[in-house]
Amino acid sequence: MTTRATHTADVIVIGGGTGGYGTALRAAALGLDVVLVERDKVGGTCLHRGCIPSKAMLHAAELVDGIAEARERWGVKATLDSVDWAALVATRDDIVARNHKGVEAHLAHAGVRVVRGTARLTGPRTVRVESVRTDSAPGTADRRTLRAHAQDARPHTDLESGVHDFSARRGIVLATGSRPRTLLGLEPDGQHIVTSDDALFAPGLPASVLVLGGGAIGVEYASFHRSMGAEVTLVEAADRIVPLEDADVSRHLTRGLRKRGIDVHAGARLLDTEVLDNGVRARVRTARGETRTVEAERLLVAVGRVPVTEGLGLAAAGLTTDERGFVVPADWNRLETAVPGIHVVGDLLPPPSLGLAHASFAEGLLVAETLAGLPPAPVDYAAVPRVTYSSPQTASVGLSETEARARGREVEVDTMPLTAVAKGMVHGRGGMVKVVAEAGAGQVLGVHLVGPNVSEMIAESQLIVGWDAEPSDVARHVHAHPTLSEAVGEVFLTLAGRGLHQQ
Ligand code: FAD
Repeated sequence: MTTRATHTADVIVIGGGTGGYGTALRAAALGLDVVLVERDKVGGTCLHRGCIPSKAMLHAAELVDGIAEARERWGVKATLDSVDWAALVATRDDIVARNHKGVEAHLAHAGVRVVRGTARLTGPRTVRVESVRTDSAPGTADRRTLRAHAQDARPHTDLESGVHDFSARRGIVLATGSRPRTLLGLEPDGQHIVTSDDALFAPGLPASVLVLGGGAIGVEYASFHRSMGAEVTLVEAADRIVPLEDADVSRHLTRGLRKRGIDVHAGARLLDTEVLDNGVRARVRTARGETRTVEAERLLVAVGRVPVTEGLGLAAAGLTTDERGFVVPADWNRLETAVPGIHVVGDLLPPPSLGLAHASFAEGLLVAETLAGLPPAPVDYAAVPRVTYSSPQTASVGLSETEARARGREVEVDTMPLTAVAKGMVHGRGGMVKVVAEAGAGQVLGVHLVGPNVSEMIAESQLIVGWDAEPSDVARHVHAHPTLSEAVGEVFLTLAGRGLHQQ
């Protein structure tokens, strides 16, 4: 049976990931009537297939690594029996499920009308939603079209089961996110050739993995599988892994991963692959021009992500994508497209947006406040931190040394190994701090960290870069002793001409 209804809302958000639900929560808090359309589960990629499950798994990986460290460095007579993948997955999924419930509760509490279905633009102010009721019997799909009205009561459950056309009084926000990119001839089969999505739901842990792609996702999965005992080969086409980071970050990370037994090949190309009964065989051309044959139980393709706009009806609203599939804002200060009232957030945005959950939250706040008539400050992408949660971790904010020089800045750089401070020696896992500042102890342009726990250390640096601080501003603040952060403080003291341990 099909029921139809027409509604109006102030704001219609399409996509319930971090960008979409962030927008919806802030808009509702500002008193706007918000409809959020999600075809799968609110929380999106980050909560269900990205940040949260992968970081839960990487936490387990750290515990496994800790057993080896305890035995080898600290005389703790511990051994690892085995990893119970099913138990690991159960804990991970419980964390995801509890977060999912939390997001649903926040949305309900804020009065956001969540509609489950697939949304399509039918014009610059209208959205149609077609959905299949989760409680429908097979074959009795219930199609609906949504339209949003401020004066509607909030029939949350009615919207769940109707056919709706929505029209927006203030604006429509596109937040449909991204999906894994695949390469021609490397179609994932979910078993031997997998994406980061498939890797989460695999039946067990592989004994060997070939990871294609040395960006954050590829490096994190390489690191995880190595901790779990797999033989890991990491292949990156660019001349270094994490190629968007400072070259010293790539160098230290490569060294750290190799020390752990990961076979890292940058500047390498996958020539061909053959699917075998129990895995894949791939030929890789290394940077030195040698051809290597790698056999692995699993080939994990992590070569980036592509924006999701299929079936979104962009043309009906008068919109297009660029050649890479991104929806490009005409006004970056408001994240508004060329069609007034249609805004875009999250992974749909091209650089300088970053394809990161926390960037999408910031974009959601900006758009919600814009739609509420406030004058929000644009997102300062240069001050958004970037983290790779591998072992070792990387965390950075601002410009790399090369970027700063390419922009014609005269720079001064200082670096320090983490093992130069006592806490770094306790950790015994290497790492470094690098600060890029304008020459003459001028503005801090970038901070780059590699090592244990640096994901938790980057916060002060994002304020330093975001507040256009100079080394002397930082150097007068005292860091706790003994901490890893002391190394950050030391580098700023040195740049301010007051270093204790460096000349
Ligand atoms: P998404 O989260 O992709 O949400 C889009 C939503 O829109 C989806 O739920 C989808 O179902 C829905 N949708 C799509 N089309 C329609 C339609 N037509 N109608 C209705 N609904 C629709 N970022 C970090 O900051 N930190 C990390 O540690 C991190 N780790 C990651 C690890 C992995 C393995 C991956 C894959 C990503 C990771 N990311 C991380 C990136 C982060 O997940 C994304 O940047 C973020 O999820 C983007 O949010 P979004 O709202 O733009 O899109």
